[in-house]
Amino acid sequence: MSSGGGLLTSTLLNTTGLELSGEVAEKFKGKVLDTIIVGGGPAGLNAAIYAARFGLSSIIITEEVGGQVGKAGWVEDYLGYTRITGPDLVNKFEEHVKYYNVPILLDSVEKVVKEGELFRVITVSGDEFTSRTVIIAVGEKRRKLNVPGEDKYNGRGVSYCAPCDAPLFKDKVVAVVGGGDSAASAALLLTEYATKVYMIHRRDKLRAQPIYQELLLKNNKITIIWNTVVKELKGDKVLKSAVLQRVDTGQITELPIDGIFVEIGAEPPINFFKSMGLELDGNGYIVVNHMMETSVKGVYAAGDCVSLTPRGFRQIIVAAAQGALAAYSAYNYILTKYGQNREK
Ligand code: NAP
Repeated sequence: MSSGGGLLTSTLLNTTGLELSGEVAEKFKGKVLDTIIVGGGPAGLNAAIYAARFGLSSIIITEEVGGQVGKAGWVEDYLGYTRITGPDLVNKFEEHVKYYNVPILLDSVEKVVKEGELFRVITVSGDEFTSRTVIIAVGEKRRKLNVPGEDKYNGRGVSYCAPCDAPLFKDKVVAVVGGGDSAASAALLLTEYATKVYMIHRRDKLRAQPIYQELLLKNNKITIIWNTVVKELKGDKVLKSAVLQRVDTGQITELPIDGIFVEIGAEPPINFFKSMGLELDGNGYIVVNHMMETSVKGVYAAGDCVSLTPRGFRQIIVAAAQGALAAYSAYNYILTKYGQNREK
C-alpha cells in the first residue's frame, strides 16, 4: 500500500540487513505488537524510531523502504544535509531504523481489520499480525500518463524514478513530464547525464518552487515545452519518440527522445482507507487532528496520505515530524489503556 514500487515477496530484514527466513516472520505472528506501521517512507520510518524510543514493540510493513524519497533527485531542503540524493537519504533513514532494531517486512498490506480492541493486519503474501495500534503512513500512488505505449515502454525508455534511471541516459535526449517540484528535481538531475532535457508541461506556468524555476530557466540543457500534453509513446523495442499535442491549438507534433520520466504527482489509495472505515476529506486523504489521530481509535496516520499535509507542500521533514507525533499518540494511547506492564 505504500506509494510506488511493485509487490515484493515477504522478507524480514534484521539489523545487519540480512534477510531472515519466513520462520522468523512466524515469531512475530502470535504476538500482540504495540503498533504496526504501514508504510516505509519518512513518516513511517520516523514513527518507527520514536516508537522504539517510547518502548513500543513494532514492525514496519512496506512495499519499499523510503517511499517517494527513494525516487527523488537531489534533496537540498532536509535539515542536516545541504545536498543529498533521495536514495542516499533513504539509506541514512534505514540505518537509523535498524539501529533501533525495528523489523522491516517488505510486503503490501491488503487489509486492516478491527477485532475488539485490537487490529489484525493482513498482508498480500498471507501473513497476519495483531497489534494494539496501527500507524498508517502509506503516502500516495504515483499517477501514470495513461497513454498508449506507456506500459509497453516501461523500463525501456519510460521511467518513474530519475535517480534510479538517470545514469542509463548518459549522452541521450530525454523528456520529463510535469511542472511540479518532482519534475523540476528530476529534470535538473537528468542534465548531469543527458545532452538535452525537455520538460513537457500542460500549462504555461510551473507549479515548482521559485528556486527550482530559477534553476530550470537558467540551465541551457533544459527546454520547457509549454501548454502541451503527451498523447502517445512510440518506438520499436525501445522508446523512440513522444507524440505531443498543444493544449491551446490542438497541434500534434512528434518529439524524438530516448527516455521519458513521468513526474505528474500522485493520489491517495482511497479504497484501502475506506475499507478501514477512516474518515476522509473530499480528496480522499485521511482526516487527522494535530496529534495525527484518525476517526478510528487506535489508528494514527502521518505523511502524504493525511489531510493535514498541505497539498502543495509535501515535504520530507513534514512527513517525518508527523510520524514522530503519530508514534507519540500511539504511545500515550497504549500507556493509558494497557499500562507499562502489558505483554510485549
Ligand atoms: P504536484 O505538485 O502535484 O505536480 C504535478 C505536476 O504534474 C503539475 O505540474 C501538474 O500540472 C502535472 N500533472 C498532473 N497530472 C497530469 C497529467 N495527467 N498530465 C500531465 N501533467 C499532469 O506533484 P509533485 O511534483 O510530484 O510534488 C508532490 C509534492 O511533493 C508537492 O507538495 C511538492 O512540493 C513535494 N515535493 C517537494 C520537493 C522538494 O521540496 N524538494 C521535491 C519533490 C516533490 P498542473 O501544474 O497543471 O496541475
